[in-house]
Amino acid sequence: MNSDRTIRNGWVSRIVICLAVLLVTHPPFIFAQSPEPLLQSAIESLSSDRMLADIRTLSGPSFNGRQGGTKDDLKSARWVAQEFISAGLHLPRIRNGSLIVPLLTGKDGAASGAMATLVPTATMPSDSVLRIGKTNRLATKQPGVDYLPIFDSPSADIQGQIVFVGYGIVDPTRGIDDYAGVDVNNGIALFLRGKPEHYPFHFSHADKVRIARERGALGYLTATGPILQPYEVRRGVTGSPSAFYGQLPLELAIPGAWISTALAQEILTTLEGELPDRLHALQERLNQSPSTQAVRSNQFASLQWKTVSEEGLLINVIGMVPGTGPETVIVGAHRDHFGRPGGILFPGADDNASGTAVILEVARALTKVEQRPSRTILFISFSGEERDLLGSRLYTSRPIVPLDTTKAMINIDHAGVGNGRLTVGMTGFQKDILLEAGKTAGVHDKVDLYGFFPGGDHVPFKEAGVPTVTVVSGGVHPHFHQPTDTVETIDPEILHNVARYVLTVVWQQAY
Ligand SMILES: [Zn+2]
Repeated sequence: MNSDRTIRNGWVSRIVICLAVLLVTHPPFIFAQSPEPLLQSAIESLSSDRMLADIRTLSGPSFNGRQGGTKDDLKSARWVAQEFISAGLHLPRIRNGSLIVPLLTGKDGAASGAMATLVPTATMPSDSVLRIGKTNRLATKQPGVDYLPIFDSPSADIQGQIVFVGYGIVDPTRGIDDYAGVDVNNGIALFLRGKPEHYPFHFSHADKVRIARERGALGYLTATGPILQPYEVRRGVTGSPSAFYGQLPLELAIPGAWISTALAQEILTTLEGELPDRLHALQERLNQSPSTQAVRSNQFASLQWKTVSEEGLLINVIGMVPGTGPETVIVGAHRDHFGRPGGILFPGADDNASGTAVILEVARALTKVEQRPSRTILFISFSGEERDLLGSRLYTSRPIVPLDTTKAMINIDHAGVGNGRLTVGMTGFQKDILLEAGKTAGVHDKVDLYGFFPGGDHVPFKEAGVPTVTVVSGGVHPHFHQPTDTVETIDPEILHNVARYVLTVVWQQAY
Protein backbone atom coordinates (compact mmCIF):
# COMPACT_ATOMS: atom_id res chain seq x y z
CA MET A 1 0.00 0.00 0.00
CA ASN A 2 2.67 2.37 1.12
CA SER A 3 4.79 1.82 -1.93
CA ASP A 4 1.63 2.11 -4.06
CA ARG A 5 0.87 5.45 -2.54
CA THR A 6 4.47 6.62 -3.04
CA ILE A 7 4.27 5.63 -6.70
CA ARG A 8 0.90 7.33 -7.08
CA ASN A 9 2.11 10.47 -5.29
CA GLY A 10 5.16 10.45 -7.53
CA TRP A 11 2.92 10.38 -10.61
CA VAL A 12 0.65 13.03 -9.21
CA SER A 13 3.53 15.38 -8.55
CA ARG A 14 4.96 14.70 -12.00
CA ILE A 15 1.60 15.47 -13.61
CA VAL A 16 1.30 18.64 -11.56
CA ILE A 17 4.79 19.73 -12.64
CA CYS A 18 4.04 18.91 -16.29
CA LEU A 19 0.80 20.89 -16.10
CA ALA A 20 2.64 23.80 -14.51
CA VAL A 21 5.25 23.73 -17.29
CA LEU A 22 2.49 23.52 -19.91
CA LEU A 23 0.67 26.44 -18.33
CA VAL A 24 3.80 28.59 -18.47
CA THR A 25 4.77 27.63 -22.02
CA HIS A 26 1.26 27.36 -23.50
CA PRO A 27 -1.15 29.23 -21.28
CA PRO A 28 -4.66 28.02 -22.08
CA PHE A 29 -7.50 30.48 -22.28
CA ILE A 30 -7.82 31.99 -18.83
CA PHE A 31 -10.79 34.14 -17.86
CA ALA A 32 -9.48 37.35 -16.35
CA GLN A 33 -12.36 37.06 -13.99
CA SER A 34 -13.91 33.62 -13.89
CA PRO A 35 -17.51 33.66 -15.14
CA GLU A 36 -20.10 31.59 -13.37
CA PRO A 37 -20.24 27.98 -14.61
CA LEU A 38 -23.47 28.33 -16.63
CA LEU A 39 -22.07 31.30 -18.53
CA GLN A 40 -18.74 29.60 -18.92
CA SER A 41 -20.24 26.52 -20.53
CA ALA A 42 -22.39 28.75 -22.77
CA ILE A 43 -19.22 30.56 -23.89
CA GLU A 44 -17.47 27.25 -24.48
CA SER A 45 -20.30 26.06 -26.71
CA LEU A 46 -19.75 28.91 -29.22
CA SER A 47 -18.45 27.60 -32.52
CA SER A 48 -16.73 29.75 -35.13
CA ASP A 49 -17.13 26.88 -37.63
CA ARG A 50 -20.92 27.09 -37.32
CA MET A 51 -20.81 30.87 -37.67
CA LEU A 52 -18.60 30.62 -40.77
CA ALA A 53 -20.98 28.05 -42.27
CA ASP A 54 -23.93 30.42 -41.68
CA ILE A 55 -22.03 33.29 -43.30
CA ARG A 56 -21.15 31.08 -46.26
CA THR A 57 -24.84 30.19 -46.69
CA LEU A 58 -26.21 33.72 -46.35
CA SER A 59 -23.58 35.31 -48.58
CA GLY A 60 -23.86 32.56 -51.19
CA PRO A 61 -25.37 33.17 -54.64
CA SER A 62 -28.72 31.56 -53.74
CA PHE A 63 -29.59 34.43 -51.39
CA ASN A 64 -28.71 36.85 -54.15
CA GLY A 65 -27.32 39.59 -51.88
CA ARG A 66 -30.46 39.78 -49.65
CA GLN A 67 -31.86 43.10 -50.86
CA GLY A 68 -34.48 44.43 -48.44
CA GLY A 69 -38.00 44.48 -49.90
CA THR A 70 -37.37 41.82 -52.58
CA LYS A 71 -38.19 38.10 -52.77
CA ASP A 72 -34.64 37.47 -51.49
CA ASP A 73 -35.61 39.31 -48.29
CA LEU A 74 -38.41 36.78 -47.79
CA LYS A 75 -36.12 33.86 -48.62
CA SER A 76 -33.45 34.93 -46.12
CA ALA A 77 -36.15 35.69 -43.51
CA ARG A 78 -37.47 32.13 -43.85
CA TRP A 79 -33.97 30.75 -43.46
CA VAL A 80 -33.32 32.77 -40.31
CA ALA A 81 -36.75 31.84 -38.88
CA GLN A 82 -35.91 28.16 -39.42
CA GLU A 83 -32.52 28.62 -37.70
CA PHE A 84 -34.25 30.39 -34.79
CA ILE A 85 -36.62 27.43 -34.44
CA SER A 86 -33.76 24.90 -34.68
CA ALA A 87 -31.88 26.86 -32.02
CA GLY A 88 -34.88 26.47 -29.72
CA LEU A 89 -36.13 30.05 -29.74
CA HIS A 90 -39.81 30.76 -29.37
CA LEU A 91 -41.23 32.70 -32.35
CA PRO A 92 -43.81 35.15 -30.99
CA ARG A 93 -47.01 35.73 -32.91
CA ILE A 94 -47.02 39.13 -34.57
CA ARG A 95 -49.91 40.94 -36.24
CA ASN A 96 -49.07 42.63 -39.54
CA GLY A 97 -52.43 44.20 -40.31
CA SER A 98 -53.89 42.69 -43.48
CA LEU A 99 -50.47 41.56 -44.74
CA ILE A 100 -49.92 37.92 -45.41
CA VAL A 101 -46.35 36.76 -44.90
CA PRO A 102 -46.08 33.57 -46.97
CA LEU A 103 -45.29 30.42 -44.94
CA LEU A 104 -44.99 32.19 -41.61
CA THR A 105 -48.60 33.20 -41.16
CA GLY A 106 -51.21 31.25 -39.20
CA LYS A 107 -54.95 31.01 -39.93
CA ASP A 108 -55.79 34.08 -37.85
CA GLY A 109 -53.39 36.23 -39.87
CA ALA A 110 -50.78 36.54 -37.13
CA ALA A 111 -47.31 35.55 -38.27
CA SER A 112 -44.86 33.53 -36.21
CA GLY A 113 -41.76 35.61 -35.69
CA ALA A 114 -42.23 37.81 -38.77
CA MET A 115 -42.77 41.56 -38.56
CA ALA A 116 -43.42 42.79 -42.07
CA THR A 117 -44.44 45.82 -44.09
CA LEU A 118 -44.69 46.68 -47.78
CA VAL A 119 -42.09 49.04 -49.21
CA PRO A 120 -41.47 50.33 -52.74
CA THR A 121 -38.25 48.73 -53.93
CA ALA A 122 -36.19 49.77 -56.93
CA THR A 123 -34.22 47.10 -58.72
CA MET A 124 -31.84 47.53 -61.58
CA PRO A 125 -31.31 44.81 -64.20
CA SER A 126 -27.88 43.77 -65.41
CA ASP A 127 -27.60 45.95 -68.48
CA SER A 128 -26.62 49.34 -67.03
CA VAL A 129 -24.30 51.36 -69.27
CA LEU A 130 -22.08 54.35 -68.49
CA ARG A 131 -20.03 55.84 -71.29
CA ILE A 132 -17.59 58.74 -70.97
CA GLY A 133 -15.48 60.70 -73.44
CA LYS A 134 -15.51 63.44 -76.05
CA THR A 135 -18.83 63.88 -77.88
CA ASN A 136 -17.98 61.59 -80.75
CA ARG A 137 -15.78 59.13 -78.82
CA LEU A 138 -17.60 57.86 -75.74
CA ALA A 139 -15.96 54.79 -74.17
CA THR A 140 -17.99 52.19 -72.25
CA LYS A 141 -16.94 51.94 -68.59
CA GLN A 142 -16.83 48.79 -66.50
CA PRO A 143 -19.56 48.41 -63.86
CA GLY A 144 -18.22 47.50 -60.39
CA VAL A 145 -14.76 48.85 -61.27
CA ASP A 146 -15.27 52.27 -62.87
CA TYR A 147 -18.77 52.93 -61.59
CA LEU A 148 -21.90 51.67 -59.86
CA PRO A 149 -25.32 53.15 -60.59
CA ILE A 150 -26.98 54.67 -57.51
CA PHE A 151 -29.25 51.69 -56.82
CA ASP A 152 -32.52 53.53 -56.36
CA SER A 153 -31.96 56.10 -59.07
CA PRO A 154 -34.60 56.43 -61.79
CA SER A 155 -34.26 54.90 -65.25
CA ALA A 156 -31.64 56.69 -67.32
CA ASP A 157 -31.36 57.49 -71.02
CA ILE A 158 -29.38 60.71 -70.93
CA GLN A 159 -26.24 62.30 -72.30
CA GLY A 160 -24.64 65.60 -71.34
CA GLN A 161 -21.46 67.52 -70.72
CA ILE A 162 -19.81 66.88 -67.34
CA VAL A 163 -19.57 69.91 -65.05
CA PHE A 164 -17.47 69.69 -61.89
CA VAL A 165 -19.26 71.37 -58.94
CA GLY A 166 -16.88 70.75 -56.01
CA TYR A 167 -18.66 69.02 -53.13
CA GLY A 168 -22.01 70.01 -54.65
CA ILE A 169 -22.96 72.17 -51.65
CA VAL A 170 -25.12 75.29 -51.98
CA ASP A 171 -25.85 77.08 -48.71
CA PRO A 172 -26.23 80.84 -49.32
CA THR A 173 -26.75 81.70 -45.63
CA ARG A 174 -23.24 80.38 -44.94
CA GLY A 175 -21.65 81.87 -48.05
CA ILE A 176 -21.04 78.64 -49.92
CA ASP A 177 -22.07 77.98 -53.55
CA ASP A 178 -20.16 75.20 -55.26
CA TYR A 179 -22.10 75.92 -58.48
CA ALA A 180 -21.11 79.62 -58.74
CA GLY A 181 -19.97 80.59 -62.24
CA VAL A 182 -21.10 77.45 -64.08
CA ASP A 183 -24.29 76.37 -65.78
CA VAL A 184 -25.21 72.70 -65.40
CA ASN A 185 -28.50 73.01 -67.26
CA ASN A 186 -28.87 69.88 -69.47
CA GLY A 187 -25.46 68.72 -68.23
CA ILE A 188 -24.18 66.05 -65.86
CA ALA A 189 -23.02 67.36 -62.47
CA LEU A 190 -19.89 65.78 -61.00
CA PHE A 191 -19.52 66.26 -57.24
CA LEU A 192 -17.28 64.84 -54.52
CA ARG A 193 -18.49 62.70 -51.62
CA GLY A 194 -18.65 64.29 -48.18
CA LYS A 195 -17.83 67.91 -47.35
CA PRO A 196 -14.82 70.05 -46.48
CA GLU A 197 -13.84 70.39 -42.82
CA HIS A 198 -14.52 74.14 -42.78
CA TYR A 199 -18.22 73.40 -43.40
CA PRO A 200 -19.42 71.86 -40.13
CA PHE A 201 -23.08 71.53 -41.12
CA HIS A 202 -25.07 68.60 -42.42
CA PHE A 203 -25.40 68.32 -46.20
CA SER A 204 -26.56 64.90 -47.34
CA HIS A 205 -26.23 63.13 -50.64
CA ALA A 206 -29.97 63.65 -51.12
CA ASP A 207 -29.46 67.42 -50.59
CA LYS A 208 -26.79 67.42 -53.30
CA VAL A 209 -29.03 65.58 -55.76
CA ARG A 210 -31.88 67.98 -55.03
CA ILE A 211 -29.61 70.97 -55.82
CA ALA A 212 -28.29 69.37 -59.04
CA ARG A 213 -31.87 68.75 -60.15
CA GLU A 214 -32.94 72.33 -59.30
CA ARG A 215 -30.04 73.64 -61.40
CA GLY A 216 -31.28 71.67 -64.39
CA ALA A 217 -28.76 68.80 -64.43
CA LEU A 218 -30.01 65.72 -66.29
CA GLY A 219 -28.01 63.43 -64.02
CA TYR A 220 -24.93 63.30 -61.84
CA LEU A 221 -21.69 61.48 -61.11
CA THR A 222 -20.17 61.37 -57.64
CA ALA A 223 -16.72 60.23 -56.49
CA THR A 224 -14.53 60.10 -53.40
CA GLY A 225 -11.93 62.86 -53.74
CA PRO A 226 -8.23 61.94 -53.86
CA ILE A 227 -7.64 63.71 -50.51
CA LEU A 228 -9.12 61.60 -47.70
CA GLN A 229 -10.02 62.94 -44.28
CA PRO A 230 -8.39 61.20 -41.29
CA TYR A 231 -11.59 59.34 -40.35
CA GLU A 232 -11.90 58.07 -43.94
CA VAL A 233 -8.33 56.76 -43.79
CA ARG A 234 -9.14 54.99 -40.51
CA ARG A 235 -12.22 53.38 -42.08
CA GLY A 236 -10.15 52.21 -45.03
CA VAL A 237 -12.07 54.27 -47.60
CA THR A 238 -10.75 53.64 -51.11
CA GLY A 239 -11.38 55.28 -54.47
CA SER A 240 -13.60 52.40 -55.61
CA PRO A 241 -17.26 53.06 -56.37
CA SER A 242 -19.47 52.00 -53.48
CA ALA A 243 -22.91 50.45 -53.22
CA PHE A 244 -25.35 53.21 -52.35
CA TYR A 245 -29.01 54.16 -52.14
CA GLY A 246 -29.75 57.83 -52.86
CA GLN A 247 -32.80 57.85 -50.54
CA LEU A 248 -34.89 60.14 -52.72
CA PRO A 249 -38.31 59.18 -54.05
CA LEU A 250 -38.05 58.26 -57.75
CA GLU A 251 -40.06 61.33 -58.78
CA LEU A 252 -37.64 63.69 -57.00
CA ALA A 253 -34.41 62.01 -58.05
CA ILE A 254 -32.33 62.19 -61.22
CA PRO A 255 -30.16 59.32 -62.51
CA GLY A 256 -26.71 59.09 -60.96
CA ALA A 257 -23.67 56.89 -60.59
CA TRP A 258 -20.81 56.60 -58.10
CA ILE A 259 -17.61 56.59 -60.15
CA SER A 260 -14.06 55.68 -59.12
CA THR A 261 -11.67 58.43 -58.05
CA ALA A 262 -9.45 57.40 -60.97
CA LEU A 263 -12.27 57.98 -63.46
CA ALA A 264 -13.08 61.37 -61.91
CA GLN A 265 -9.41 62.31 -62.22
CA GLU A 266 -9.41 61.15 -65.83
CA ILE A 267 -12.48 63.30 -66.61
CA LEU A 268 -10.82 66.39 -65.19
CA THR A 269 -7.29 65.92 -66.49
CA THR A 270 -8.22 65.83 -70.12
CA LEU A 271 -8.37 69.64 -70.43
CA GLU A 272 -5.48 70.80 -72.57
CA GLY A 273 -2.44 72.05 -70.65
CA GLU A 274 -3.78 71.01 -67.25
CA LEU A 275 -1.86 69.29 -64.47
CA PRO A 276 -2.35 65.50 -64.33
CA ASP A 277 -3.64 65.70 -60.76
CA ARG A 278 -6.09 68.50 -61.38
CA LEU A 279 -8.81 66.97 -59.19
CA HIS A 280 -6.32 66.86 -56.32
CA ALA A 281 -5.54 70.56 -56.77
CA LEU A 282 -9.24 71.46 -56.98
CA GLN A 283 -10.05 69.50 -53.83
CA GLU A 284 -7.12 71.09 -52.00
CA ARG A 285 -8.53 74.57 -52.76
CA LEU A 286 -12.07 73.47 -51.83
CA ASN A 287 -10.76 72.19 -48.49
CA GLN A 288 -8.97 75.47 -47.75
CA SER A 289 -11.84 77.91 -48.22
CA PRO A 290 -15.47 78.08 -49.35
CA SER A 291 -14.55 79.61 -52.75
CA THR A 292 -16.06 77.91 -55.80
CA GLN A 293 -13.92 75.62 -57.97
CA ALA A 294 -16.69 74.77 -60.40
CA VAL A 295 -15.51 74.04 -63.91
CA ARG A 296 -16.99 72.66 -67.14
CA SER A 297 -15.01 69.66 -68.39
CA ASN A 298 -14.59 68.79 -72.06
CA GLN A 299 -16.00 65.31 -71.41
CA PHE A 300 -19.48 63.95 -71.86
CA ALA A 301 -21.28 61.19 -70.02
CA SER A 302 -24.03 58.93 -71.24
CA LEU A 303 -26.07 56.98 -68.65
CA GLN A 304 -28.46 54.22 -69.69
CA TRP A 305 -30.41 51.78 -67.61
CA LYS A 306 -33.92 50.82 -66.71
CA THR A 307 -35.04 50.81 -63.09
CA VAL A 308 -38.05 48.78 -62.04
CA SER A 309 -39.90 49.80 -58.90
CA GLU A 310 -42.22 47.36 -57.17
CA GLU A 311 -43.83 46.99 -53.79
CA GLY A 312 -42.14 44.22 -51.84
CA LEU A 313 -42.15 42.71 -48.35
CA LEU A 314 -39.64 43.98 -45.83
CA ILE A 315 -39.33 41.47 -42.99
CA ASN A 316 -37.78 41.50 -39.52
CA VAL A 317 -37.53 38.04 -37.94
CA ILE A 318 -37.99 37.87 -34.16
CA GLY A 319 -37.14 34.98 -31.84
CA MET A 320 -37.46 34.94 -28.07
CA VAL A 321 -36.14 33.43 -24.85
CA PRO A 322 -38.93 34.25 -22.36
CA GLY A 323 -37.78 35.77 -19.09
CA THR A 324 -39.26 35.53 -15.62
CA GLY A 325 -39.71 39.30 -15.22
CA PRO A 326 -41.41 42.12 -17.14
CA GLU A 327 -38.30 43.60 -18.78
CA THR A 328 -36.62 42.86 -22.11
CA VAL A 329 -33.18 42.88 -23.71
CA ILE A 330 -32.86 42.98 -27.52
CA VAL A 331 -29.99 41.46 -29.48
CA GLY A 332 -30.11 42.52 -33.11
CA ALA A 333 -28.25 42.38 -36.40
CA HIS A 334 -29.34 43.35 -39.87
CA ARG A 335 -29.57 40.62 -42.47
CA ASP A 336 -30.20 42.66 -45.63
CA HIS A 337 -27.61 43.91 -48.07
CA PHE A 338 -27.55 45.33 -51.61
CA GLY A 339 -28.72 42.40 -53.70
CA ARG A 340 -27.50 42.09 -57.27
CA PRO A 341 -27.94 45.59 -58.71
CA GLY A 342 -26.86 46.05 -62.30
CA GLY A 343 -26.08 42.31 -62.37
CA ILE A 344 -23.29 42.56 -59.76
CA LEU A 345 -23.65 40.32 -56.69
CA PHE A 346 -23.00 41.98 -53.34
CA PRO A 347 -22.48 38.99 -51.01
CA GLY A 348 -22.43 41.05 -47.78
CA ALA A 349 -20.46 38.46 -45.80
CA ASP A 350 -19.06 40.91 -43.25
CA ASP A 351 -22.01 43.28 -43.79
CA ASN A 352 -23.90 41.69 -42.17
CA ALA A 353 -24.09 37.94 -42.57
CA SER A 354 -21.40 38.04 -39.85
CA GLY A 355 -23.63 39.79 -37.29
CA THR A 356 -26.52 37.49 -38.23
CA ALA A 357 -24.28 34.46 -37.59
CA VAL A 358 -23.27 35.91 -34.21
CA ILE A 359 -26.86 36.37 -33.00
CA LEU A 360 -27.76 32.84 -34.21
CA GLU A 361 -24.80 31.36 -32.35
CA VAL A 362 -25.55 33.35 -29.18
CA ALA A 363 -29.17 32.14 -29.42
CA ARG A 364 -28.02 28.50 -29.73
CA ALA A 365 -25.80 28.94 -26.65
CA LEU A 366 -28.48 30.61 -24.51
CA THR A 367 -31.31 28.19 -25.29
CA LYS A 368 -29.15 25.41 -23.82
CA VAL A 369 -28.81 27.19 -20.46
CA GLU A 370 -30.93 25.48 -17.84
CA GLN A 371 -31.97 28.67 -16.14
CA ARG A 372 -34.54 31.17 -17.31
CA PRO A 373 -33.28 34.72 -17.68
CA SER A 374 -34.94 37.34 -15.51
CA ARG A 375 -35.38 39.54 -18.57
CA THR A 376 -36.89 38.30 -21.84
CA ILE A 377 -34.32 38.17 -24.63
CA LEU A 378 -35.52 39.13 -28.12
CA PHE A 379 -33.33 38.20 -31.05
CA ILE A 380 -34.12 40.40 -34.05
CA SER A 381 -32.86 39.88 -37.59
CA PHE A 382 -33.55 43.27 -39.18
CA SER A 383 -34.10 43.98 -42.84
CA GLY A 384 -33.74 47.37 -44.55
CA GLU A 385 -30.69 48.60 -42.62
CA GLU A 386 -28.97 49.47 -45.90
CA ARG A 387 -32.08 51.47 -46.81
CA ASP A 388 -31.87 54.03 -44.04
CA LEU A 389 -32.75 51.64 -41.17
CA LEU A 390 -36.21 50.73 -42.47
CA GLY A 391 -36.37 47.50 -40.43
CA SER A 392 -35.28 48.85 -37.06
CA ARG A 393 -37.56 51.87 -37.53
CA LEU A 394 -40.39 49.45 -38.30
CA TYR A 395 -39.71 47.69 -35.00
CA THR A 396 -39.57 50.88 -32.89
CA SER A 397 -42.82 52.04 -34.53
CA ARG A 398 -44.52 48.70 -33.71
CA PRO A 399 -42.59 47.22 -30.77
CA ILE A 400 -43.87 43.84 -29.57
CA VAL A 401 -42.95 44.69 -25.98
CA PRO A 402 -43.06 48.26 -24.61
CA LEU A 403 -39.90 50.24 -25.34
CA ASP A 404 -39.87 51.68 -21.82
CA THR A 405 -39.39 48.18 -20.38
CA THR A 406 -36.72 47.40 -22.99
CA LYS A 407 -33.58 47.83 -20.95
CA ALA A 408 -30.89 47.29 -23.58
CA MET A 409 -30.46 46.95 -27.34
CA ILE A 410 -27.27 45.20 -28.41
CA ASN A 411 -26.50 45.55 -32.11
CA ILE A 412 -23.89 43.61 -34.07
CA ASP A 413 -22.75 44.84 -37.47
CA HIS A 414 -19.58 43.98 -39.43
CA ALA A 415 -18.25 41.39 -37.00
CA GLY A 416 -15.75 39.40 -39.02
CA VAL A 417 -12.95 41.55 -40.46
CA GLY A 418 -10.30 43.90 -39.11
CA ASN A 419 -7.40 44.20 -36.72
CA GLY A 420 -8.70 41.85 -34.01
CA ARG A 421 -9.98 44.59 -31.69
CA LEU A 422 -13.65 45.07 -30.81
CA THR A 423 -15.06 48.53 -31.29
CA VAL A 424 -17.96 49.05 -28.90
CA GLY A 425 -20.22 52.10 -29.10
CA MET A 426 -22.63 52.77 -26.26
CA THR A 427 -25.42 55.06 -25.16
CA GLY A 428 -27.17 55.06 -21.79
CA PHE A 429 -24.71 52.57 -20.26
CA GLN A 430 -22.06 52.90 -17.58
CA LYS A 431 -18.62 52.40 -19.07
CA ASP A 432 -17.63 50.11 -16.18
CA ILE A 433 -20.37 47.61 -16.96
CA LEU A 434 -19.20 47.09 -20.50
CA LEU A 435 -15.54 46.89 -19.45
CA GLU A 436 -16.55 44.32 -16.84
CA ALA A 437 -18.23 42.24 -19.56
CA GLY A 438 -14.95 42.33 -21.51
CA LYS A 439 -13.12 40.93 -18.48
CA THR A 440 -15.68 38.19 -17.93
CA ALA A 441 -15.57 37.25 -21.62
CA GLY A 442 -11.76 37.22 -21.57
CA VAL A 443 -11.48 39.92 -24.25
CA HIS A 444 -10.84 42.92 -21.98
CA ASP A 445 -7.51 43.64 -23.72
CA LYS A 446 -9.30 43.91 -27.08
CA VAL A 447 -12.31 46.13 -26.26
CA ASP A 448 -12.23 49.80 -27.31
CA LEU A 449 -15.19 51.68 -25.83
CA TYR A 450 -16.71 54.74 -27.47
CA GLY A 451 -19.89 56.79 -27.16
CA PHE A 452 -22.64 57.01 -29.76
CA PHE A 453 -22.06 55.58 -33.27
CA PRO A 454 -24.04 57.60 -35.81
CA GLY A 455 -25.08 54.70 -38.11
CA GLY A 456 -26.83 51.38 -37.57
CA ASP A 457 -29.96 49.68 -36.24
CA HIS A 458 -29.31 50.84 -32.68
CA VAL A 459 -30.05 54.44 -33.73
CA PRO A 460 -33.90 54.25 -33.68
CA PHE A 461 -33.68 52.54 -30.26
CA LYS A 462 -31.35 55.23 -28.93
CA GLU A 463 -33.81 57.84 -30.22
CA ALA A 464 -36.58 56.00 -28.35
CA GLY A 465 -34.58 56.20 -25.12
CA VAL A 466 -33.40 52.57 -24.98
CA PRO A 467 -29.77 52.12 -23.80
CA THR A 468 -27.71 50.73 -26.70
CA VAL A 469 -24.48 48.83 -27.29
CA THR A 470 -23.06 48.43 -30.79
CA VAL A 471 -20.34 45.89 -31.45
CA VAL A 472 -18.24 46.15 -34.61
CA SER A 473 -14.96 44.41 -35.32
CA GLY A 474 -12.22 47.07 -35.11
CA GLY A 475 -9.87 48.32 -37.81
CA VAL A 476 -10.23 48.71 -41.53
CA HIS A 477 -13.04 46.92 -43.43
CA PRO A 478 -11.57 47.18 -46.94
CA HIS A 479 -14.49 45.44 -48.67
CA PHE A 480 -17.15 47.67 -47.10
CA HIS A 481 -20.08 47.96 -49.55
CA GLN A 482 -18.06 46.27 -52.30
CA PRO A 483 -18.76 43.14 -54.35
CA THR A 484 -15.58 41.74 -52.74
CA ASP A 485 -17.21 41.40 -49.28
CA THR A 486 -17.03 37.58 -49.42
CA VAL A 487 -16.82 34.78 -46.83
CA GLU A 488 -13.14 34.23 -47.69
CA THR A 489 -12.30 37.56 -46.03
CA ILE A 490 -13.87 36.59 -42.67
CA ASP A 491 -11.55 35.87 -39.75
CA PRO A 492 -13.05 33.13 -37.50
CA GLU A 493 -11.12 34.29 -34.45
CA ILE A 494 -12.55 37.81 -34.67
CA LEU A 495 -16.02 36.32 -35.09
CA HIS A 496 -15.51 34.16 -32.02
CA ASN A 497 -14.33 37.09 -29.88
CA VAL A 498 -17.35 39.16 -30.93
CA ALA A 499 -19.70 36.27 -30.09
CA ARG A 500 -18.21 35.65 -26.64
CA TYR A 501 -18.37 39.37 -25.83
CA VAL A 502 -21.97 39.70 -27.05
CA LEU A 503 -23.00 36.57 -25.17
CA THR A 504 -21.46 37.96 -21.98
CA VAL A 505 -23.15 41.36 -22.33
CA VAL A 506 -26.49 39.64 -22.95
CA TRP A 507 -25.90 37.43 -19.91
CA GLN A 508 -25.02 40.39 -17.77
CA GLN A 509 -28.14 42.26 -18.90
CA ALA A 510 -30.62 39.36 -18.85
CA TYR A 511 -29.59 36.76 -16.24
ZN1 LIG B 1 -23.80 48.09 -44.85
